[in-house]
Amino acid sequence: MLIVKKFGGTSVGTPERIMNVARRCVEDYNKGNDIVVVLSAMGKTTDDLIKLAHEVNPKPPKRELDMLMTTGEQVSVAMMGMAMDALGVRAVSLNAYQIAMHTTSTYGNARLKRIDRERILHELEDRKIVIVTGFQGINKYDDYTTLGRGGSDTTAVALAAALHADACEIYTDVDGVYTADPRIVPTARKLKEITYDEMLDLATLGAGVLHNRSVEMAKKYGVKLVVRSSLNYSEGTMVKEEVTVERMLISGVAIDKNADRVSVMGLKDRPGVAFRLFDVLAKAKINVDVILQSIGREGTKDISFTCEDEYVDEAVAVIEANKARLNYESLSCDKNVAKVSIVGAGMMSNPGVAAKMFEALYNEDININMISTSEIRVTVLINEDDCERAANAIHEAFDLGRTHAM
Ligand code: ADP
Ligand code: ASP
Ligand code: MG
Repeated sequence: MLIVKKFGGTSVGTPERIMNVARRCVEDYNKGNDIVVVLSAMGKTTDDLIKLAHEVNPKPPKRELDMLMTTGEQVSVAMMGMAMDALGVRAVSLNAYQIAMHTTSTYGNARLKRIDRERILHELEDRKIVIVTGFQGINKYDDYTTLGRGGSDTTAVALAAALHADACEIYTDVDGVYTADPRIVPTARKLKEITYDEMLDLATLGAGVLHNRSVEMAKKYGVKLVVRSSLNYSEGTMVKEEVTVERMLISGVAIDKNADRVSVMGLKDRPGVAFRLFDVLAKAKINVDVILQSIGREGTKDISFTCEDEYVDEAVAVIEANKARLNYESLSCDKNVAKVSIVGAGMMSNPGVAAKMFEALYNEDININMISTSEIRVTVLINEDDCERAANAIHEAFDLGRTHAM
C-alpha cells in the first residue's frame, strides 16, 4: 500500500513528538508499505514567523512573507529525516522546490496546479520514506508560495491524488472531526463518518480541523480521508462521498473568530451603489462574506459586510480611497465579532431549523448582528465574546451530543 500521512504543528511540536511521529511512520513502513509523510511547521512556528516579520515591517511584502514562512516546514522535514535516521530507517526530506509542486502565482494564498511525481516515486522505489514540506509550493517565477493558513492538509490530499495513494491519513491533536470544536464545546461528539459536502461547509465556515481546499480536492479526486489523533490509536473520522451510519438534521456547529464587520453608512439609495462598493473590493481581491443592506430611509441606505481579519484593514483603506466615488457619510469597522454557523443537508426539508437556532441564542440573551442562510446552513454574526456561549447553546438545542437518526 502507498500511504500519505500528514501531521500538523502540535503533532511535531517538540523533538519528543517528532520521534513519536517517526515511530508511527516506521511501524507502517515495516509492514511493507510505501510511506509519504507531509509535515506542518513545528508548533506555533508559522505564527511566530509572521510576528517576526511584522517587527520589521507592519505590511510585509507577500513574496517575502512566503519566503519566510516556508522555512518553518523545512525545519520539520529535516528534523523528521534525522529522527528516522536515528531509528535506522532510510528516509529523505524534500521541499516544494525539490519535488516541483507547481502553484498559481498568488503569494500567501496560492493554489496547487501540478505536482511532479518522478522524484518521489524514485525515492519510494529505493525503499525510502519520503518526507515532504506541507503548505508550500513554487510559482512560475520559481518563487516559493504558500497555500493559505492550514494548507498542509491540501498538500497531503494533492499528493495522495497525484500518487494514487491507497490511503490519506490526517493526524492532528484531536481524535477526529466532531460536531463542534471540542475545545469550545465540551459535549461535542466525534463523528464516525462525514460526507465531503458537509465537511466542506464546516471547514469553510470555520472548523479549522481541515483546510477547506483539502476537502474540495478530496471530493474532486475521490480521495478518502481519515482524520485521527497522532497521540493515540483511536479510530478517527472518515471523510467520504456517502455515509452509511447516521443521517443528521444538523451535522455540526462551526465557529469563526476570524470574521470582521465593515459598515458603510449613508450611501445614496439608488441603483448601482452596491455594485460600485463591491466592485471596488473585488478589484482589490478582497473576498466578502455575509452582506446586509438596510432598507432605504430618506434617500440613504447602509451596507455592512464581513471579511476575514487578514483583509479588513485593506478593505477599509480601499473604501476610504474611493470615498468620492462611493459617496457615503461614514465608515466603521468592528473586529470584535464572530460567525457561528450550523450546517447540515437535513435542514433543507425541515422548516424551523433557523428558528430553533435563533431561539437558542435568545434564551442566552445573545444579540444577532447579521444573518445569512443557504439551503444547508444558517450563519449568524454575533459579538466575539458571546461565541463560546452561543456555540454551546446551539449545540445543546439540536442535541448534537447524542446520536440520533433524522
Ligand atoms: P493541525 O496543526 O494538526 O493541522 P489544527 O489546529 O489546524 O491542527 O486543527 C485541529 C484543531 O481544529 C483542533 O485542535 C480543534 O480545536 C479544531 N477544530 C475546530 N472545529 C473542529 C471540529 N468540528 N472537530 C474537530 N476539531 C475542530
Ligand atoms: N504551518 C502552516 C500554518 O500554520 C500550515 C499548516 O499548519 O497546515 O498555517
Ligand atoms: Mg491544520
